[in-house]
Amino acid sequence: MPLAPVPEELRYVLVGRAWVTPVVAELSLEPAGRPLEFLPGQYVLVCDDDYRIPPRSYSVANAPDPSGALTLLVTDVAEGVTSRWLTRDAPLGVALVVSGPYGTFLADPDSGRPVLGLAGGSGLAPILALAEDAIRRGLPEPFTLLFSARTEEHLIHHARLTAWDQDHDRFQYVRTLTRASGPPPTGHVPDVLPALLPDLSRHDVFIAGSPGFVAACVAVVRDLGCPPGALHTEEFYAEPQPWGRLADEEV
Ligand SMILES: Cc1cc2nc3c(=O)[nH]c(=O)nc-3n(C[C@H](O)[C@H](O)[C@H](O)COP(=O)(O)OP(=O)(O)OC[C@H]3O[C@@H](n4cnc5c(N)ncnc54)[C@H](O)[C@@H]3O)c2cc1C
Repeated sequence: MPLAPVPEELRYVLVGRAWVTPVVAELSLEPAGRPLEFLPGQYVLVCDDDYRIPPRSYSVANAPDPSGALTLLVTDVAEGVTSRWLTRDAPLGVALVVSGPYGTFLADPDSGRPVLGLAGGSGLAPILALAEDAIRRGLPEPFTLLFSARTEEHLIHHARLTAWDQDHDRFQYVRTLTRASGPPPTGHVPDVLPALLPDLSRHDVFIAGSPGFVAACVAVVRDLGCPPGALHTEEFYAEPQPWGRLADEEV
């Protein structure tokens, strides 16, 4: 397993933003100076350079690039301070503070085990970074990505992932829709996965998304035989609210 770089605080610039679903925006960040070193699957803390916007965790959605560019997939959380600022209010060109990298959602390139990535919503970000890295390394082991979305319009990078599937024999992309009819599969991951991969005893499994999504996936993945040491999770939990704000609400 490669050693993760030591976390540091660096300056970046927001250079692009586009809605990739009705609720998820893709942000493009370029380094204003020295670029961040990170491993595929890690996350960073992002805030404005006046520290008025609270720093929040976001998984990097691309494999490391010599240019130092970072791509983030940010869900617009209603009344979410930082996500709303990043997806709607922050002007292009604004300076950002990026701290990191953090996290142990890391693939062992020498594991020799097939990989399964399960992603819901913006949880696709770290799985995308792992998949991109595996493709760059020539897919030494098969990689299956199962992405769960409510409807077709909630699919993220469907065209790119479909092209990866077509271009690489060992990369399989499957999408499932949970709130719409359409070509199979449809339904939640626990309903779809057993037919797709009934035996996970030899797989490394990576699951990323909301805590509820991760918990539901962990249960089915264990039932399908994935050993604990081969199961990796990244829960996009909400940061605890400041004590003062909680106290105000409770009074
Ligand atoms: C390791 C890690 C990686 C993460 N990576 C990503 C990522 O790649 N993309 C991404 O979009 N998010 C990611 N998150 C979540 C992110 O860090 C923030 O929690 C999220 O953007 C909300 O922050 P906020 O400041 O907008 O909301 P806050 O102001 O902190 O919260 C406002 C209100 O919204 C609620 N809330 C917060 N988050 C959610 C949510 N997701 N769904 C529903 N209600 C919510 C809170 O409980 C609160 O009531 C990650 C979290 C962790 C821990």
